[in-house]
Amino acid sequence: CGIVGYVGDKQAQDVIIDGLRRLEYRGYDSAGIALVDTAQGSGSIASDKRAGKLANLEKSIAESALPPATTGIGHTRWATHGAPNDENAHPHLGKDRRVAVVHNGILENFAALRAGLEATGHEMASETDTEVAAHLLEIEVQTGADLTVAMQRVCQRLEGAFTLVAVDAQDSSRVVAARRNSPLVVGLGEGENFIGSDVSAFIQHTRDALELGQDTIVTITSDSVEVTAFDGTPAEGKPYHVDWDLSA
Ligand code: GLU
Repeated sequence: CGIVGYVGDKQAQDVIIDGLRRLEYRGYDSAGIALVDTAQGSGSIASDKRAGKLANLEKSIAESALPPATTGIGHTRWATHGAPNDENAHPHLGKDRRVAVVHNGILENFAALRAGLEATGHEMASETDTEVAAHLLEIEVQTGADLTVAMQRVCQRLEGAFTLVAVDAQDSSRVVAARRNSPLVVGLGEGENFIGSDVSAFIQHTRDALELGQDTIVTITSDSVEVTAFDGTPAEGKPYHVDWDLSA
């Protein structure tokens, strides 16, 4: 339901939890976060997710701290496929825990994709439609594609409405997001960039935003924003300035 993504020089955990809090007004049943932990050389995903209020997630993180990281994604879920429990909360990870994904919307053809994945040894850890996307993206990056190309390939196989945001444990420089019939905006910062399901996700950090067209993919790094269509051809977002009052 609510999505935040961040790459920059701040602690991603703080930016993401803060963004999720500002998205709480939308309603949700679970919350989660995934960070790219680069402390161990090649990188790994550190993640936590909890059913219930954001406070449950914060309590869990307080008891079992996540590593410092400057790249990450966060989600508040409004369940459509699978009960609102810890397992079904986002982020979802691929089999080898290399790719983490959060999703708003519904992947209409998830059952067929899931059957195909299970037939090749991919066990699902949740009942969600979302989890297939994590496995499919991970398979693509494991063939050597970067996460942007992986997202382009996977989106061409997905049906339904979705905002998908992903990170790759082996590439802490980028967060990649895609949208089809579901909202996605980019927040443009100085030495940092943001992804949000709406501008509330990052309004306390920047008021310069980029609106993305239908069926586009955006890759943010700390100092670049690149938009393409699902087939990889270059596309452009529409820049705008958020001028509403933060206290309103
Ligand atoms: N369909 C997904 C799920 O049930 C995403 C729901 C949402 O938009 O939060 O987990």
